[in-house]
Amino acid sequence: MTDFTLANKLHLQITSLFWRSMDWLYPPRCCNCDRRGFVLCETCFAEIEPLQGALCQKCGYPVSGKGRLCEECRLAPPPFTQMLSWTSYIGPVKEAIHALKYKRNLAMGPFLAKPLVEIVKRSGWNIDLVVPIPLSRSRLRFRGYNQAALISHQLAAQLNIQHSNTAVKRVRNTSTQIELDVNKRFMNLFDAFYANPATLKKRNILIVDDVITTGATMQNCTKALLQAGAENIYCVSVARAILRHAKHHQGFASNSVLLS
Ligand SMILES: [Zn+2]
Ligand SMILES: [Zn+2]
Repeated sequence: MTDFTLANKLHLQITSLFWRSMDWLYPPRCCNCDRRGFVLCETCFAEIEPLQGALCQKCGYPVSGKGRLCEECRLAPPPFTQMLSWTSYIGPVKEAIHALKYKRNLAMGPFLAKPLVEIVKRSGWNIDLVVPIPLSRSRLRFRGYNQAALISHQLAAQLNIQHSNTAVKRVRNTSTQIELDVNKRFMNLFDAFYANPATLKKRNILIVDDVITTGATMQNCTKALLQAGAENIYCVSVARAILRHAKHHQGFASNSVLLS
């Protein structure tokens, strides 16, 4: 048994026991309808529609027509091999991510990892290492935890793949993205990651995040991993902000309106 197989088994057992005890001590409430006994109840969960139908083969964004790639990926191919998201950033899933990020609902991390397990299994990706999008040191200190890591760690354990919280780091603080318009996000994030070649060289990496808005964060993190010698980069997120305007990747979408 490899070190990470044992670590994954322990992780699954400990987190399962921990969350069962917490549910018993403090019964959770549905983040969307407040029903007792669930972090997200079955009724609210059933409202979530997975992204399906015609999706860009590269970035997983809904495409109209017969093209295999969206316009942005045709014009400027992104550096990752493929990116997929479970659903769009609206409704109950938006509430779930909000609860995970801003209301310290930590049980939501493992809960939201479940649909990603299925997505990654279906994708056929060959992955050696799972990493979360890291937070800056100051944001981590402020929040106390990285919400993407709560998802990625559980995902890696369920897929029995090695996980690392330290292979890629945020090297300088970035302003909160919500405060920036889409055009400024790429500049703000440029070179904001450092990836460790010792852990990443010649390996296939899966990057995990809670929400993808423009894709700028995933692209910049991918660039850092590739610079460190990683082979193929795959990206997955729970939710995806779907824009009315088609041109969203390269920060040209200043007039776009987020549907979320
Ligand atoms: Zn509910
Ligand atoms: Zn695309």
